[in-house]
Amino acid sequence: ADHTADDILDALDPEQREVAASPSGPMVVLAGAGTGKTRAITHRIAYGVRAGAYQPQRVLAVTFTARAAGEMRTRLRDLGVVGVQARTFHSAALRQLHYFWPQAIGGAAPEILGHKAPAVGEAVGRVGMRMNRSEMRDIAAEIEWSKVSLLTPETYPAAARRARREPPGMDLTAMARLISAYEDVKGERGVIDFEDVLLLTVGILEERGDIAQTVRNQYRHFVVDEYQDVNALQQRLLDLWLGDRGDICVVGDPAQTIYSFTGATPQHLLRFTDTHPGAATVRLVRNYRSTPQILSLANKLLTGPSGQRRGGAVELVAQREAGPQPELTVLDDDPAEAGWVADRITKLVAQGRPLREIAVLFRTNGQSEALEAALSDADVPYLVKGGERFFSRKEVREAVLLLRGAARTDDGSKSLPHLVADVLGGMGWHEDAPASSGAVRARWESLKALVDLSTRLEATSPQARLPDLVRDLDERIAAQHAPAVEGVTLASLHAAKGLEWDVVFLTGCSDGLLPIMMAEGPEEIEEERRLMYVGVTRAREVLHLSWSRARTPGAKGTRRVSRFLDQASGILGEGARSTPKRASGSRGSRGLKSSRPRVCKGCGTELGTAKERASGRCPDCPPTYDEATFERLRSWRLTVSKAASVPAFVVF
Ligand code: ATP
Ligand code: MG
Repeated sequence: ADHTADDILDALDPEQREVAASPSGPMVVLAGAGTGKTRAITHRIAYGVRAGAYQPQRVLAVTFTARAAGEMRTRLRDLGVVGVQARTFHSAALRQLHYFWPQAIGGAAPEILGHKAPAVGEAVGRVGMRMNRSEMRDIAAEIEWSKVSLLTPETYPAAARRARREPPGMDLTAMARLISAYEDVKGERGVIDFEDVLLLTVGILEERGDIAQTVRNQYRHFVVDEYQDVNALQQRLLDLWLGDRGDICVVGDPAQTIYSFTGATPQHLLRFTDTHPGAATVRLVRNYRSTPQILSLANKLLTGPSGQRRGGAVELVAQREAGPQPELTVLDDDPAEAGWVADRITKLVAQGRPLREIAVLFRTNGQSEALEAALSDADVPYLVKGGERFFSRKEVREAVLLLRGAARTDDGSKSLPHLVADVLGGMGWHEDAPASSGAVRARWESLKALVDLSTRLEATSPQARLPDLVRDLDERIAAQHAPAVEGVTLASLHAAKGLEWDVVFLTGCSDGLLPIMMAEGPEEIEEERRLMYVGVTRAREVLHLSWSRARTPGAKGTRRVSRFLDQASGILGEGARSTPKRASGSRGSRGLKSSRPRVCKGCGTELGTAKERASGRCPDCPPTYDEATFERLRSWRLTVSKAASVPAFVVF
């Protein structure tokens, strides 16, 4: 990689070049998905280094996921630049916390809770409440929100009232008591959680001017990707890193704000020029990622009912050549949908499509189970993006505990991978892969990933021992960075941001999943719409949308297609007319007729006329928005195919 500074600029369009070639002073890049924001900041760093304006080790690039950080390092290496720190807020903070803890507080930094659940459970008991698991999850999320919003149990109730927070089954004062009990539990156990990593780093930098100075001396140039989803806590940390200097370039897309429920806000992005007077603003509109077909769907998602652009979003202009129309497929139930996805992937792989170029995206982690089962059955290797699933797997948690224990007695008896294999042997793990697929195989794979990790660690640092591996695991747990496994990517829409694949399956496109049932009110619904926009814009070439009528086989199919596809229907009609062969009229109408309801969906009274039966509504209960959408889509294109095992297609 022998790139001159000029070569680096040549690979950019004029607006991107402006981002890359002005490596000092504050700058904000506001642009839609796939317009090359990440590319522009990567090239900014590379150009700065190659042109001699930056020393690589003085640059801190903050990305949203560990995978994005890894990709940025790879891209930089390809441009001939090494030594730049590309990290998530978490991993950058964790490093600093570990490094400065002995000096600022004394002793070694405390252990980090992989999950809030156990501490939340104990706190709930202490304040004399009882809760089910899903309520506890909500509580954990509320605690996270309060911490990233820089609230304390004292300031929480007033702020939560303003933000219209509704913790499950309790008032805001009770929630504040719970937060305080949760903090006590952690304190007594001497552990910290994810947010504490940032909070404590902020605390150290605020209280110890000398340490802040050391950090500022180290890092002089900053870029931040996905800045629309920064929260108050991350912003505070960034401010401390920056001090009164201004060499910072932030990039983001307000239309991809998908973390507001956890306390993130695009206001930091939108107000950047206020907080950094004199900041240059750059806008990018050419989309280099996706085909025009995919982009017209993306553009429709951000178009309001009367044609206005939602949230001031700018239309994306396609640069790639035409590709296949996105397809929408409906199946009977979730396992059928998952089976259909696995089947399509098997065919794609048989045609030579690499596994790593395929992703299956979903809204809720609950959906991942059916998909994992179907992919295992079809022997399609997969990895679950985000790492949450990996480190919360039972066998992985158990293995990490055992490794932690063994680290205390590691006498340097054997090579690191052997030692790890020995420890895992205690759980019945053996180097030879089991013949079976499914759960047994999945368990083996995740433990194997830990052994592989130790092999890689040993390769990069031959002196590394078990305690180093445990530290590495802790960093990964904190950054939610699972070890890489070759396979199809399974990812929640949240974990998929910033990433791209040739082929994307966007599953669960039904009302109740996307938008998710618990989304209430226009703001939450808009965030769900942005999530779908993020999902759609991950695809380079092929996009399959799918949904299913019921969750479980045999259940009454009550779901409706996602309301967000309503605006898309206008451009989809064309595609449907061009593929009339898909339709199989008689079967289709019979299939649909039989599912027509006899009582009104609104009030439950018996329906009289055929027209009422067709709409499922009596004259007193007009159809809801979703039903109207669904009916329109259905009457246009929804057909049931001949063979029962083959799903109904809607091609657009
Ligand atoms: P997102 O909003 O999803 O994070 P982004 O704006 O960060 O997207 P990138 O990931 O940087 O977009 O770029 C999208 C794709 O387009 C990448 O594959 C990138 O390499 C490619 N690309 C960006 N700019 C150019 C360009 N000027 N010429 C050719 N390809 C480009
Ligand atoms: Mg990006």
